[in-house]
Amino acid sequence: MFDVVVVGGGPSGATAAADLVRSGHTVAFIDRDGRIKPCGGAVPPRLIADFNIPDSQIVARIRTARMISPTQRQVDIPIENGYVGMVDREHFDEFLRIRAEAAGAERITGTFTKITRDDAGTHVHYRHKASGEDRVARCKLVIGADGARSNVAKAEVPGGDKIPYVIAYHEIIEAPAKTEHYDPMRCDVIYDGAISPDFYGWVFPHGAQASVGMGTGLDGVDLKKATADLRVASGLENCKTIRREGAPIPLRPMDRWDNGRDVVLAGDAAGVVAPSSGEGIYYAMVGGRVAATAAAACLTTGRVSDLKLARKLFMREHKQVFRVLGAMQNAYYRSDARRERFVSLCHDVDVQRLTFEAYMNKKLVKARPLAHLKIGVKNLAHLTGLVAQTRV
Ligand SMILES: Cc1cc2nc3c(=O)[nH]c(=O)nc-3n(C[C@H](O)[C@H](O)[C@H](O)COP(=O)(O)OP(=O)(O)OC[C@H]3O[C@@H](n4cnc5c(N)ncnc54)[C@H](O)[C@@H]3O)c2cc1C
Repeated sequence: MFDVVVVGGGPSGATAAADLVRSGHTVAFIDRDGRIKPCGGAVPPRLIADFNIPDSQIVARIRTARMISPTQRQVDIPIENGYVGMVDREHFDEFLRIRAEAAGAERITGTFTKITRDDAGTHVHYRHKASGEDRVARCKLVIGADGARSNVAKAEVPGGDKIPYVIAYHEIIEAPAKTEHYDPMRCDVIYDGAISPDFYGWVFPHGAQASVGMGTGLDGVDLKKATADLRVASGLENCKTIRREGAPIPLRPMDRWDNGRDVVLAGDAAGVVAPSSGEGIYYAMVGGRVAATAAAACLTTGRVSDLKLARKLFMREHKQVFRVLGAMQNAYYRSDARRERFVSLCHDVDVQRLTFEAYMNKKLVKARPLAHLKIGVKNLAHLTGLVAQTRV
């Protein structure tokens, strides 16, 4: 019998498994094999530091973010005091799984099917990949870290079948050398309704490769055409395409992450991705960490209410940032006029500093009081239409 079985071996599951074995628990994690998680792969320095990610996993270091408006106005934001790292999920996820295994977690390659219970404990059923057999891992607790559209969440936790999603699609291409359009040390973020009517498009360099894509929560948007258009607009239409892939990004953390009995969720399975940016890797790893803390507490005290700690700890740290990003998405992603205004705001050096501080270090920092006041007034002026869309 394992103390904990983790379903999923992505950033959240691998982190939860590694943390739990390090705190002296017996752990297995089940991951199905053979699919690279579609992902832009941008990670903040806070992730690299907190989760001890070696330099070898960082395939590009981004020093500038370029915001592009519907009328093609551009603002280049320098990334001060550090860089945004780029990871390749093909190698990053496997690195995390190997690290969890090396720490002492048992790695099972197979597909989770269901959870049953009897007097002997909780049984996690899976199809074992190598043998094709249906097998069972017995445990005291389960961490559901099986990503967006989680089967564990759907079956076990109220609300797990109702998480809203954006569908994100991207193409991994062979990156060109630096051109007038493309810079291997710059991320481009495209706010243009013709590319995405409700989210954004991106060009993220990854060393020898780049990710070009967009997301939308609206039905009827042709994601492949939007990405093809974005490639033309970015001068990348003739680069060789290595992979085309898409996946859902959850839009809102669930109200409950546990089933009040023996299951707690982590990462995308709990709906945890930052609004506005769609950033999920860092939050998935934090989610894995707090799920491991909650599971360890529950195993020690025998109180199932301790599983609630996962959400509580996460929200204590990140609720405010999620709230600000959610308000920003509601205000500025709704029309091209608003997107134009958003890029205008991004010209402000104080907006740049505060936004990137929040992204890089995951804290809302206090700037000079006058800077806050100025940003508030500019924000209001744009949202009420008092100033022209292009006023910076
Ligand atoms: C196109 C796109 C671009 C993105 N770009 C970025 C970005 O640049 N930066 C960023 O921070 N975030 C980005 N995200 C979000 C980020 O990818 C996710 O938030 C993050 O991967 C969540 O990690 P996770 O461990 O919770 O889930 P996942 O990474 O989805 O991992 C879940 C794991 O569970 C396994 N699994 C699923 N079902 C089963 C099953 N039945 N049995 C066994 N195993 C199972 C899967 O194989 C997988 O390994 C992007 C997402 C998309 C779709």
